[in-house]
Amino acid sequence: MIARSPTDWHAKDRQDEPWQHALREVVTSSDELLALLDLADEAPALDRRPAFPLRVPRSFVARMRRGERDDPLLRQVLPALAETQTQPGFVDDPLDESEANKLPGLIHKYAGRVLLVLSGNCAINCRYCFRRHFPYADNRPPRAEWAPVFDYIERDPSLHEVILSGGDPLSLSDRRLAEMVDRLAAIAHLRRLRVHSRLPVVVPQRVTPALVELLTGSRLATSLVIHANHPREIDETVGAALRPLRAAGLSLLNQSVLLAGVNDHADTLTELSERLFAVGVLPYYVHLLDRVSGAAHFDVPEAHARALHAALLARLPGYLVPRFVRAVAHAASKIPLGPALAQTT
Ligand SMILES: *Cc1c(COP(=O)(O)O)cnc(C)c1O
Ligand code: SF4
Repeated sequence: MIARSPTDWHAKDRQDEPWQHALREVVTSSDELLALLDLADEAPALDRRPAFPLRVPRSFVARMRRGERDDPLLRQVLPALAETQTQPGFVDDPLDESEANKLPGLIHKYAGRVLLVLSGNCAINCRYCFRRHFPYADNRPPRAEWAPVFDYIERDPSLHEVILSGGDPLSLSDRRLAEMVDRLAAIAHLRRLRVHSRLPVVVPQRVTPALVELLTGSRLATSLVIHANHPREIDETVGAALRPLRAAGLSLLNQSVLLAGVNDHADTLTELSERLFAVGVLPYYVHLLDRVSGAAHFDVPEAHARALHAALLARLPGYLVPRFVRAVAHAASKIPLGPALAQTT
């Protein structure tokens, strides 16, 4: 039994579901993490006091390999000393979303769809994430302030899809999520709802029967975009969590970030697509890294990304090849990279 803080014990509004328990009992110390992995004697060069703290759920730690210093899951969460080195071209807000951030909590960048920042919280802190610098304090309206967001969507009949994002929208309670889904379903011109979440991968317990009902019970055609970067993230617990969602008719997609030392090999990405499909998920995007400060050691050169795309096209059926894209400030969509095609001359 792990000691919990007094605030946890006294929180009034707390439902105590296993997933909420898992969110409270995440590993937050690099020493503890390395000890759990039998790596205490091999401590890599760490940032011991990172501004963006270490945070990793125990079920995700259980999928890391003991004694493997270069484990691709570990690399995604361990604060490396390299994060503290500034690199030219890597900045705090690489996408400059300020113009698209029309209201607190709402980003309207692409035609027909808006993204809502539902929560600043994540179960896991991914070292490569732009969230390490994102001004969540300005983008998380308390409940009373969602009214302008709903008004904005209501006033624009060209909007057909709402994307619940974050942070992680599934870190919200079912009650809060249900309120959101019901409110959106009442807007006649909305057709689709999309949820972007890493929780089904890192805390599969989050997918409760109540969540399945909530996501599949609305009038809106709903999809869930999970986030896995490496095939070892998809184990049987993740497969079991996704099965009822699939069975209930949800579209399941995956997005990954291309990360040096994690998934920058054709074999790894091929295996990721295979495992995703085996649990009912189609690969959607492989994002080139946003050039956020502190993440330069994850960067993969564009030429290598194109070569990987070509390699996947040569090995997999088209529907298992993700779209390789880059987010570009002020562009009308994410920009496809295109494969490095074989020379014809
Ligand atoms: C990625 C993103 C979307 C969704 O783009 P799709 O190409 O539809 O997946 C929407 N809004 C913002 C701000 C985004 O960054
Ligand atoms: S937003 Fe996604 S990538 Fe970023 S820390 Fe949260 S789960 Fe990780």
